[in-house]
Amino acid sequence: MTDCLFCNIAAKEIPAEIVLETERALAFRDINPQAPTHVLVISKAHHENAAALAEADDGLADDLLKACHAVAVQEGVAESGYRVVLNTGPGAGQTVFHVHAHVLGGRSLQWPPG
Ligand code: AMP
Ligand code: ZN
Repeated sequence: MTDCLFCNIAAKEIPAEIVLETERALAFRDINPQAPTHVLVISKAHHENAAALAEADDGLADDLLKACHAVAVQEGVAESGYRVVLNTGPGAGQTVFHVHAHVLGGRSLQWPPG
Protein backbone atom coordinates (compact mmCIF):
# COMPACT_ATOMS: atom_id res chain seq x y z
CA MET A 1 0.00 0.00 0.00
CA THR A 2 1.23 3.49 -0.80
CA ASP A 3 0.51 6.39 1.52
CA CYS A 4 -1.52 8.16 -1.19
CA LEU A 5 -5.24 7.89 -0.38
CA PHE A 6 -6.43 8.13 -3.98
CA CYS A 7 -3.81 5.65 -5.26
CA ASN A 8 -5.24 3.23 -2.71
CA ILE A 9 -8.79 3.93 -3.88
CA ALA A 10 -7.62 3.41 -7.51
CA ALA A 11 -6.09 0.08 -6.46
CA LYS A 12 -9.40 -0.83 -4.68
CA GLU A 13 -7.49 -1.22 -1.44
CA ILE A 14 -9.60 1.48 0.21
CA PRO A 15 -13.33 1.33 -0.53
CA ALA A 16 -15.20 4.09 -2.33
CA GLU A 17 -18.58 4.40 -4.01
CA ILE A 18 -17.40 4.06 -7.58
CA VAL A 19 -19.75 5.46 -10.24
CA LEU A 20 -17.62 5.15 -13.39
CA GLU A 21 -14.40 3.49 -14.43
CA THR A 22 -12.46 3.85 -17.66
CA GLU A 23 -9.09 2.52 -18.69
CA ARG A 24 -7.24 5.45 -17.13
CA ALA A 25 -9.77 7.18 -14.86
CA LEU A 26 -11.93 6.34 -11.88
CA ALA A 27 -14.93 8.29 -10.54
CA PHE A 28 -16.35 7.92 -7.04
CA ARG A 29 -18.59 9.90 -4.71
CA ASP A 30 -17.01 12.52 -2.48
CA ILE A 31 -17.20 11.46 1.17
CA ASN A 32 -18.30 14.99 2.15
CA PRO A 33 -20.65 16.05 -0.67
CA GLN A 34 -21.17 19.75 -1.32
CA ALA A 35 -23.99 19.28 -3.84
CA PRO A 36 -26.54 16.56 -4.70
CA THR A 37 -24.02 15.34 -7.27
CA HIS A 38 -20.45 15.53 -6.00
CA VAL A 39 -18.18 13.02 -7.70
CA LEU A 40 -14.39 12.97 -7.78
CA VAL A 41 -12.71 11.91 -11.02
CA ILE A 42 -9.11 10.78 -10.65
CA SER A 43 -6.48 9.48 -13.00
CA LYS A 44 -5.49 5.96 -11.98
CA ALA A 45 -1.88 7.03 -12.41
CA HIS A 46 -0.48 9.24 -9.69
CA HIS A 47 0.02 12.89 -10.58
CA GLU A 48 0.18 15.42 -7.76
CA ASN A 49 -2.34 17.83 -9.24
CA ALA A 50 -3.68 19.33 -12.48
CA ALA A 51 -0.43 21.18 -13.10
CA ALA A 52 1.58 17.95 -12.99
CA LEU A 53 -1.04 16.21 -15.13
CA ALA A 54 -0.91 18.95 -17.77
CA GLU A 55 2.88 18.79 -17.84
CA ALA A 56 2.80 15.02 -18.33
CA ASP A 57 1.13 15.81 -21.70
CA ASP A 58 0.20 12.24 -22.65
CA GLY A 59 -3.51 12.69 -23.32
CA LEU A 60 -4.52 11.83 -19.78
CA ALA A 61 -5.92 15.31 -19.09
CA ASP A 62 -8.17 14.81 -22.09
CA ASP A 63 -9.35 11.45 -20.73
CA LEU A 64 -10.03 13.00 -17.33
CA LEU A 65 -12.23 15.77 -18.77
CA LYS A 66 -14.12 13.28 -20.90
CA ALA A 67 -14.70 11.10 -17.83
CA CYS A 68 -16.04 14.18 -15.98
CA HIS A 69 -18.55 14.78 -18.74
CA ALA A 70 -19.56 11.09 -18.80
CA VAL A 71 -20.18 11.28 -15.05
CA ALA A 72 -22.34 14.40 -15.50
CA VAL A 73 -24.41 12.64 -18.17
CA GLN A 74 -24.75 9.51 -16.03
CA GLU A 75 -25.75 11.59 -12.98
CA GLY A 76 -28.36 13.48 -15.02
CA VAL A 77 -26.84 16.94 -14.49
CA ALA A 78 -25.36 17.54 -17.95
CA GLU A 79 -28.49 19.39 -19.14
CA SER A 80 -29.07 21.50 -16.03
CA GLY A 81 -25.40 22.41 -15.74
CA TYR A 82 -22.47 21.25 -13.70
CA ARG A 83 -19.11 22.49 -12.52
CA VAL A 84 -15.70 20.84 -12.82
CA VAL A 85 -13.19 22.04 -10.22
CA LEU A 86 -9.51 21.16 -9.99
CA ASN A 87 -8.12 22.69 -6.81
CA THR A 88 -4.43 23.00 -7.60
CA GLY A 89 -2.09 23.69 -4.71
CA PRO A 90 -2.76 24.39 -1.03
CA GLY A 91 -3.62 28.04 -1.71
CA ALA A 92 -6.51 26.89 -3.88
CA GLY A 93 -7.77 24.46 -1.25
CA GLN A 94 -6.16 21.25 -2.47
CA THR A 95 -5.96 18.79 0.43
CA VAL A 96 -5.39 15.46 -1.35
CA PHE A 97 -2.30 15.54 -3.54
CA HIS A 98 -3.42 13.12 -6.23
CA VAL A 99 -5.13 14.89 -9.11
CA HIS A 100 -8.92 14.85 -8.83
CA ALA A 101 -11.64 16.81 -10.56
CA HIS A 102 -14.73 17.62 -8.53
CA VAL A 103 -17.90 17.24 -10.61
CA LEU A 104 -20.63 19.23 -8.89
CA GLY A 105 -24.25 19.57 -9.92
CA GLY A 106 -27.86 19.10 -8.99
CA ARG A 107 -28.29 22.52 -7.44
CA SER A 108 -27.79 26.14 -8.40
CA LEU A 109 -24.07 26.99 -8.16
CA GLN A 110 -22.94 30.50 -7.28
CA TRP A 111 -20.13 32.47 -8.90
CA PRO A 112 -17.51 33.47 -7.88
CA PRO A 113 -16.70 30.48 -5.67
CA GLY A 114 -15.34 31.16 -2.20
P1 AMP B 1 -9.47 18.89 -2.43
O1 AMP B 1 -9.73 19.75 -1.21
O2 AMP B 1 -9.79 19.56 -3.72
O3 AMP B 1 -8.08 18.28 -2.38
O4 AMP B 1 -10.54 17.72 -2.35
C1 AMP B 1 -10.36 16.54 -1.62
C2 AMP B 1 -11.72 15.91 -1.54
O5 AMP B 1 -11.56 14.55 -1.21
C3 AMP B 1 -12.64 16.52 -0.47
O6 AMP B 1 -13.81 17.03 -1.09
C4 AMP B 1 -12.92 15.35 0.47
O7 AMP B 1 -14.24 15.37 0.98
C5 AMP B 1 -12.66 14.16 -0.43
N1 AMP B 1 -12.28 12.93 0.24
C6 AMP B 1 -11.34 12.78 1.19
N2 AMP B 1 -11.23 11.48 1.54
C7 AMP B 1 -12.12 10.80 0.77
C8 AMP B 1 -12.48 9.42 0.66
N3 AMP B 1 -11.90 8.48 1.40
N4 AMP B 1 -13.45 9.09 -0.24
C9 AMP B 1 -14.06 10.02 -0.98
N5 AMP B 1 -13.74 11.34 -0.93
C10 AMP B 1 -12.79 11.72 -0.06
ZN1 ZN C 1 -1.77 8.87 -5.72
